[in-house]
Amino acid sequence: MPSFIDTHNHLGCDDFNSDRDQVIENSIQKGVIKQIVVSVFANEWQDDIELSTKHTSLHVACGIHPMYIPDQQKQREDALALLRQLYANTNHKKKLCALGEIGLDYYIDHIDKALQQAIFQEQLAIASHYQRPVLLHVRRAHADTIKILKQCHFKEQGIAHAFSGSYEEAKEYIKLGFKIGLGGAGTYPHAYRMHRVLQQLPLESIVLETDAPDLSPVTRQGMRNSPEYLPEISKQLAIIKQINEKEFATVTTHNACKLFNWSMDEIKKTSFN
Ligand SMILES: [Zn+2]
Repeated sequence: MPSFIDTHNHLGCDDFNSDRDQVIENSIQKGVIKQIVVSVFANEWQDDIELSTKHTSLHVACGIHPMYIPDQQKQREDALALLRQLYANTNHKKKLCALGEIGLDYYIDHIDKALQQAIFQEQLAIASHYQRPVLLHVRRAHADTIKILKQCHFKEQGIAHAFSGSYEEAKEYIKLGFKIGLGGAGTYPHAYRMHRVLQQLPLESIVLETDAPDLSPVTRQGMRNSPEYLPEISKQLAIIKQINEKEFATVTTHNACKLFNWSMDEIKKTSFN
């Protein structure tokens, strides 16, 4: 059975309160040997880190999501201070594998662009200082995101999560050492542009994600998305890319391992006992 890594989900959120442990167990049974739980609210960061310490297969990423930047300056400063404190804590080094999701969202126009850019830059500085890759959330803002990454000389790499941009934009991220995160959205038959991008992308640049509970694949339309469905998503994407299913799973898992410095052998051992 191939192994899968869900590089982006929100397993800590309330949608999983009734069956979280079962979902984690089912995911492992289906070969989803690692998951990165992305924590987007400062008041949930500690809980999600704790959740990850209880399960060998879980890792966590904390960050200020561009859509949820606190209104008050004091709250923003407190959140950034807490973030620095969490990443400075060497006890968290292994579990806090990335910083995110962070970035720019110009789709929602009521959030000030300059403020988003400032918070994004602050967090890139934290990621650089503590040497963690970042998980990027970007909507209608690829040019500015790429510009800021270059201006900051950001070297820690990361993932352009739920990527829906053009092949040219993907190439810019890849040049900066980023992987392209793909999931359920690309499984829909009418997602023509995504299919074209997926077919053009080098296999070495792709990592998989669910973004659960959101972005359900076509096979689970209208349902809560779950890391358990990652193997189905992988299969659908492999068909669209017209490559062997197993090869697609193996290479994308390897890509994620490389980015987060995980050894495949160690992962398999720890996840199945
Ligand atoms: Zn997300």
